[in-house]
Formats: sequence, structure tokens, C-alpha cells
Amino acid sequence: MSIKSRFQPLLEQRAKEHLYRRRPLATTAQDTAMQINGVQTINFSSNDYLGLANHPALKNVLQETGDLSVGSGAAHLVTGHHLEHHLLEDELADWLGFDRALLFSTGYMANLAVQPALMQKGDWIVSDKLNHASLLDGAQLSSAELKRYAHNDMDALEKRLKQAHKDNIQCLVVTDGVFSMDGDLANLPAIQKLAQKYDAWLLVDDAHGIGVMGSQGKGCFEYFGLQADENTILMGTLGKAFGTSGAFVAGSEVAIEALIQFARPYIYTTAMSPVNAKVTRAALKLVKDADVRRQQLMDNIAFFRKGAEAIGLNLMPSESAIQPILLGDSEVAIAWSDALKQSGCWVSAIRPPTVPKDTARLRITLSASHTHAQIQQLLEALAAIQAKSST
Ligand SMILES: *Cc1c(COP(=O)(O)O)cnc(C)c1O
Repeated sequence: MSIKSRFQPLLEQRAKEHLYRRRPLATTAQDTAMQINGVQTINFSSNDYLGLANHPALKNVLQETGDLSVGSGAAHLVTGHHLEHHLLEDELADWLGFDRALLFSTGYMANLAVQPALMQKGDWIVSDKLNHASLLDGAQLSSAELKRYAHNDMDALEKRLKQAHKDNIQCLVVTDGVFSMDGDLANLPAIQKLAQKYDAWLLVDDAHGIGVMGSQGKGCFEYFGLQADENTILMGTLGKAFGTSGAFVAGSEVAIEALIQFARPYIYTTAMSPVNAKVTRAALKLVKDADVRRQQLMDNIAFFRKGAEAIGLNLMPSESAIQPILLGDSEVAIAWSDALKQSGCWVSAIRPPTVPKDTARLRITLSASHTHAQIQQLLEALAAIQAKSST
């Protein structure tokens, strides 16, 4: 059988179901106003929540990296671990109040790393059903058994943990901090309490919380006024609010050493560019000082929600920068997304298998850099489509 004979029908099937994916081509820098597929548009689909990806201060740092090599040349355990990586790890750990932090080239890899390294045969990984795909993949790479609980359902979580505790099974509770396709928050206070009550460990993926949530942007733990304990692992990404790329895992001294020894996606890969590490150190300084930007973001979220509610749009209960509009049908989601593009607003349609069947949606993300005028343009475009589709 040829590759073509296997995949041509699958590709055609995907297109017929309105699930075919295409890559929008950006020809200007990542920003709220940018050119995509040759058209000038307002970008409501990036995760650049604080507007740092194209920030002049970071681009200046990029000009000052003459003493660094472009590539790291090797894995961290070989010769790739540069002082810039080391300092960034220390600064992240200090900022977030963990013993140590460990850099990864991407958040996806960090999530492939943690569960297989820490969990063994006989253990349970107890995971929210709406967790990010990379957490699911990480669980499947592990020898532990995967138990999924209904989204944010604390009774279902407790039932699992109680059962495991009775049978002396070590559990790792796994959750997104901010759910990436819904924008709602994990019930971290309850989750932490349950984990502690039943001696379970806790892994929180705060890709959309770090830099944004909490008064100092330290993420969902700070937002809820919680303190991570020594059995907590925090994953954060650098490609979202930080505006650069890569990720980190923060935890206790022993947890991080365990990852360095046993996590294959850490060991068998080239270290991120030292240039990226240096620019990310500067990004961390901006994130720490970003109170005004965080306030602007919260203000933009409130402005959008108020306007969207006035039009009668089907908003989800999200207080984060992720503001989905649930449409259900994939074809409808694409039609809305296309109509918004015609009106100069770039909003991705999110379809299965990224989200559950019949829950296709527009995923609007807001940034501190959006102006009210830009958001107003989006609201007016949404109102026009809404009016048309209901007649
Ligand atoms: C984006 C994201 C990741 C992956 O991070 P990358 O650095 O983009 O690979 C992991 N988890 C969540 C919840 C995310 O939103």
C-alpha cells in the first residue's frame, strides 16, 4: 500500500467533515495588527497575552547577544547547558517560590516528560478530561494507569483518590490551571486540598496562567492565594505571556533532579538556544513589572464580555484571556471564522478532535495590547454575523 492510497481518503474525509486544518501564513511580526494570508487583520487568536512577543525591549536584547552562539550545540547533559539557561532557571524558581526550575524546549515536551518520569507501573494518573492534549500524551507514555475525571468534578476526583488511597496506590492529579479551549480555571483550592488529604501528588499545567493570573502574574496558585507544597509540580510555558518560546517545570529539589535523571524528553534533545534563554530572562523582568499590562488585559476582557453579552452571544464562564463562543457545529464555526476574517478580525475556529464532538467554537483570545477600538470592531463584526445567522 502506498502512503497516498492510505491517506488520500482520510484527507478527503477530514475535508468533508469540515475538520481539515490549514496553516495561516503570517508575513509580518506577531502582534495585534498583522498580515495573515496576505490580508491585514486584527489578531484575536494568539496567546501573546501581555504583548511581549514583538516588544522593543526584547528585540533590543536580541541585538545584544553577540557573545552567545545561536545554537546550544548539544543537550543539557552534554555541553548545551549554558549559564543563560542556568540563570533563567534560578530566576524562575525564585520568582515562583520553588526550589528549582528546569527548562524545556517546548511545553509539549515538558508535558511528555513529567508523567513518564515520575509515575511508575501500578500508580494512577488522575487527570481532568479537558486537559491539554500534551498532558494526555504524557500520561499515555507513562507506565501508570490513566484515570480521567469529568471536567472540574471534585466528587469524581475524590472518589478516585479515596479508592487509590485505600488500596495504597500512588496518584498524580493532573490539571490545566486555565483550561486552554474553555478559558475557565481549575478549582485549585479544592484540588490541592484533596491531593493533600489523600497523599496524592499534583501536576498543574499553568501555560495560560503564568504571567497573567494573580496580582503579580505568578499564575493560578497566586490567584487563589495558595502555596504549592513539596509534592506539587508546576509547568509553565514561555511562548504565551512571556512572548518567547520554551517551557519550564518547577518543583522540589528532588523532583527536579529526578527529571534530569529520568525524563527522556529532557535528556535526549538539544537545549534551547542560549539566545532564547537570554531574551526570556529579559521577558521575565517585563512580566514581573507588568502590573499595568495585566490590568489592561483584565480591562479588555471585561470590555469584551460586556459587549458580547449585550449582543447575546453564547459566552462561556471564563474570566481569563481565553473567551470562547460556543457554536457546536464545525461548519458553523468555520463560517463564523471566515465571516470575521472578511471583517478584518482573525479568530480561529476550534473543532474536534481539539474539543469534544459538537462543541466547535470560536476561540477569541485577548491581549493587553488590544485597543478598545480593535475589540469594538470585533464586537461589531460578531453582531453583524449574529444578526444574519438568526434571520
Ligand atoms: C500551549 C500549551 C502547551 C504546549 O506548550 P508549547 O510551548 O506551545 O509546546 C501545553 N499545555 C497547555 C495547557 C497549553 O496551552
